Formats: sequence, C-alpha cells, structure tokens
Amino acid sequence: MKIIMLGAPGAGKGTQAKMIAEKYGIPHVSTGDIFRANLKAGTELGLEAKKYMDAGQLVPDELTVRILLDRVAQDDCKNGYVLDGFPRTIPQAEVLEDALTKLNDSVDYAINVEVPDEAIVERMGGRRACVKCGATYHIVNIPPKKEGICDTCGSELILRDDDKPETVQKRLNVYHEQTQPLVDFYSKKGILKDVDGTKGMQEIFAEICGILG
Ligand code: AMP
Repeated sequence: MKIIMLGAPGAGKGTQAKMIAEKYGIPHVSTGDIFRANLKAGTELGLEAKKYMDAGQLVPDELTVRILLDRVAQDDCKNGYVLDGFPRTIPQAEVLEDALTKLNDSVDYAINVEVPDEAIVERMGGRRACVKCGATYHIVNIPPKKEGICDTCGSELILRDDDKPETVQKRLNVYHEQTQPLVDFYSKKGILKDVDGTKGMQEIFAEICGILG
C-alpha cells in the first residue's frame, strides 16, 4: 500500500503517518526527517537543505526528488510506504507518478489532514523536538514525562527554528501557494480522502483506518 499524507505543516500528518506505518507494517518516509538526519551528520546535502529549512522555504525539487526516489527504491519499501512531507509541489508529484508508472504501480491513497491556519500557528508554537533523536512532543497535547527532556533518549527538547511563529507563517504561505494544489491533483485522480485534523489524535487515526481498511 502506498500512501501520501497531505496537509499544512503542523496539521499532525507526521503523527498519523507514524501510526499508519506501525499498524500496516510499512516504512514511514519523511523527507523532513531525511534532511534533518543529514544535517545532523553534517553531510553536504544536509547543509544545502538547512539554508531553505531555516528560512521556511522548500528545498529545491531536484534535490528533494533525488533523495526521495533513492529512499523508496530501498528494499524495505517494496511492499509500500507512507510518505510524509512529500510531494510538496506539483512537479514532485509528477516525478513520483512517472517513477511509479514505470514500475506499473501507483499511489493508493492521498490522505488530506485538514486544519485551519490559526490552529496550526497555535499548535506549532507548542511543539518541541529532541536535539538528539528527533522525537517530537507538544507542551499541551503530547507532553514529555519530564519538562524539556526527551522520554526516549533523555536529551534536551527545543523549539525547532522552523517551528518559530514567524517561520510558521512563512511555511503556511508556502503551503498554500505550492502544496495545496496537490489536493486538486489527487482529487482528480480519485484517490483523495479528507480527514478532519482538528479532532483528537486517536479519532483521526480511526477515521484513517476506516479509509485504508
Ligand atoms: P517537515 O519536517 O516535513 O515539516 O519538513 C521540514 C522542512 O524540510 C520543510 O520546511 C522544507 O524546508 C524541507 N522539506 C521537507 N520535505 C520537503 C519537500 N518534499 N520538498 C521541499 N522541501 C521539503
């Protein structure tokens, strides 16, 4: 099963993607996580991506598409995957479609997690990420057991540069301009499924499971 998660940054698609990956036994592929892992490892790709990420902009399609196609060509992806944060532009969606078509394959579902902008800005200001393992929390919705400390690895939790309010607003503008057209793109293909992202995490997941079967 090949699933795409759509929705604004902070809509909760990452959380849902992880839950889907676990339940259906398929990898959770997040381009944002791949960029962050590269940045942490100090690779050239990571340093290049950082310039755009810190500014709330998209990493250029050429670079993003290359790392995504490499990732989904790996062995663990052969029975499917859930994409989180990719595609983010029409050209990215077209490249993915072409690559899958060559394999006689296609995306099964595009799940669109809908949340109004005001709710996103409020949510992201409360988001905290672990400096070491990248686990994410929310000071109200998913608090760590001990304030400011990661449950998984015990490292410090921080507000990521790209979750700061001024960057969030920029990212939302970028989302509306470049990513929202994908809703139409997948709707026309008949695989778009809207879910209400303002509901609780478990309630949203139940709705998604109802769709995926
Ligand atoms: P995320 O963790 O998905 O919110 O991604 C964090 C940042 O990584 C984004 O704000 C972009 O700068 C970059 N990024 C992640 N995925 C993509 C993508 N598919 N296309 C372009 N930039 C991306």
